[in-house]
Amino acid sequence: MDLKNFIGGEWVDNNLQTMPIINPATGDQLGTIPLSTKTEIDAAVNAAKKAQKHWALVPAPKRADYLYEIGFKLKEKKEYLAQVLTREMGKVIEEARGEVQEGIDMALYMAGEGRRLFGETTPSELANKFAMSVRAPIGVVGLITPWNFPIAIATWKAFPALVAGNTFVWKPSNETPMMAYELAKIFEEVDLPKGVANIVFGTGPTIGTAMVEHPDIRVISFTGSTATGSKVAELGGKHLKKLSLEMGGKNAVIVMDDADLDLAVEGIVWSAFGTAGQRCTACSRVIVHSSVKKVLEDKLLTAMERITIGDGLDPHVKVGPVINRAALEKINHYVGIGNQEGATLLTGGRILTEAPLDRGFYFEPTVFTDVNADMIIAQEEIFGPVISIIEVANLDEAIAVNNSVRFGLSSSIFSRDVNTIFKAQQLLDTGIVYVNAGTTGAEIHLPFGGTKGTGNGHRDSGQAALDVYTEWKSIYVDYSGTLQRAQIDT
Ligand code: NAD
Repeated sequence: MDLKNFIGGEWVDNNLQTMPIINPATGDQLGTIPLSTKTEIDAAVNAAKKAQKHWALVPAPKRADYLYEIGFKLKEKKEYLAQVLTREMGKVIEEARGEVQEGIDMALYMAGEGRRLFGETTPSELANKFAMSVRAPIGVVGLITPWNFPIAIATWKAFPALVAGNTFVWKPSNETPMMAYELAKIFEEVDLPKGVANIVFGTGPTIGTAMVEHPDIRVISFTGSTATGSKVAELGGKHLKKLSLEMGGKNAVIVMDDADLDLAVEGIVWSAFGTAGQRCTACSRVIVHSSVKKVLEDKLLTAMERITIGDGLDPHVKVGPVINRAALEKINHYVGIGNQEGATLLTGGRILTEAPLDRGFYFEPTVFTDVNADMIIAQEEIFGPVISIIEVANLDEAIAVNNSVRFGLSSSIFSRDVNTIFKAQQLLDTGIVYVNAGTTGAEIHLPFGGTKGTGNGHRDSGQAALDVYTEWKSIYVDYSGTLQRAQIDT
C-alpha cells in the first residue's frame, strides 16, 4: 500500500519521492511512504494551529469522548492491527497484541482524565480573594516516535496531548508507518475534527528537524536513541521548545544469592530476548552474585534451547527478526567487540542465514559471560538479543555496576530478602525498578521514563504525561472591591 500524509483530515498526495516499507521477517515490500519536506510540515502545522483554537474550547469530557471511541475502535480491530504490526515491525504476534492492548488501555485511561485534569484551589493570603491553578493546553505539539513500539508510544503521547486540548503533528518512524496510517483511519472513523491529528511521513533529518525548528510547534515529545535525542535537545533548546525526551537504555537484571533462580531465568529470557532485544527496557546485562553464577548460566542455557526463532506471525515463534539490515550489522559489530574485549561467548553470536531466515534479519540470541562492567558491550546500547553476564560479590557491588552506565531506564532485582529488596529499590538510579520480574512490562497508568542519558526529566504515561502537554495557569480572583496588594506591608 502506498501511504499518504494525513493533513487537516485529508489524505494528501503531493507526488513526493517515496521509500519502501519492508517486512523484516521476509524482506517483502509492504508498500511505500512519501518522503515529505518542510512544505508538508508547514501545511500540517497550519492545519493543527487552526484546529487547536476550536479544540481547546471543547470541554475536556467531550474531548475525552473521542478517546473512548478511539479506544473502542482499537479494541474492535485489535487482531487485525496486531497482524499489521507484526508484519511491519517483526515482533511476535503475542507481543503485537499486547502492544495494541497498551494503546487501548491508554485511550481509555486518558479519556478518564477528561473528567479529572485536576488543578488546585488554595486560600489566598488576602481577604475576599480566591486563588486557583488550572492546567491549560499549550497549542500544537510535535510527536516524533521510534519503530520499536509503533502504536503504543504514539498513544502515550497523542492521547494525553489531545485530552488536554492540544492538537498534534506526528512524525512516525520510516520503518513502521503502517500503524500510523491505521491510527489515522481510526481518527477519521470517529470523526475527530479535521486538523486535530496530523501525520506526516519522512526522514528525521528533513521533517523531524523542520518540526523542531517550527515556530508554531510549542512542544516536542520525542522517543528514540540518545544520539538523536541530543540533536533534538540542542536544536530545540535554541528555539526554546518544551522538550520531552525518552531515549536509550542499558538495563540490568540483578540476581542475588537467595533468588528463585528458575524465576530469574524466566525473567531474563523474556526481557532480554522478547522483541528480539529491541525494547528500550530490554535486559542487556545480568549482574549475578558469584555464588549462583554457574547454576544461573546452566539454567539460562537450558531455557534458551526452547527459544524458537522465525516470522512472528507463526504463534509458536518466540523471537522474531530485528528491524533491518543495519540493525543486524550493528549487533554483529558489538558481538565482534565483545570477542575482542575478552568476554566469553556462551552461546549465539551469529547472523542467522539458514533458509528461510536468510530472507529476513535474524540474529541468534547471544550470551556473553565473564564480562567486566566497563567493557563496551556492558556500557553501550546494543538493541538486539545480546546479554552480558557480570559477576559481583555483594549487593553494594551489584548496585554500583547497575548504576555505572550513562543510561537510567529500567532495572530489576531477584531476591527473597525484604531488606535487600528495599535497599535496592532505593539505590538503583533508574526511572523504573522491578522486583522479582524482568526489566520490561510497564503499565500505562504509571510514569514511564528514565534518568541520566535516558531522559530529560519528563515522563510518558500516567498522570505525569499531562505535565508535558499542559501549562500551569494560576488565577487570582479578587472580590474585595479594593486594590489589595500581595506582599506589601500595610
Ligand atoms: P532514532 O533515534 O533513530 O529515531 C527516532 C525518531 O527520530 C524517528 O522517527 C526518526 O526518524 C527521528 N529522527 C531521526 N533523526 C532526527 C533528527 N535529526 N531530528 C528529529 N527527528 C529525528 O531511534 P529508533 O532507532 O527509531 O529507536 C530506537 C531507540 O529508541 C533506542 O535507542 C531505544 O532505546 C529508544 N527508545 C526509547 C524509549 C523510551 O521510552 N526511553 C522507548 C522506545 C525506544
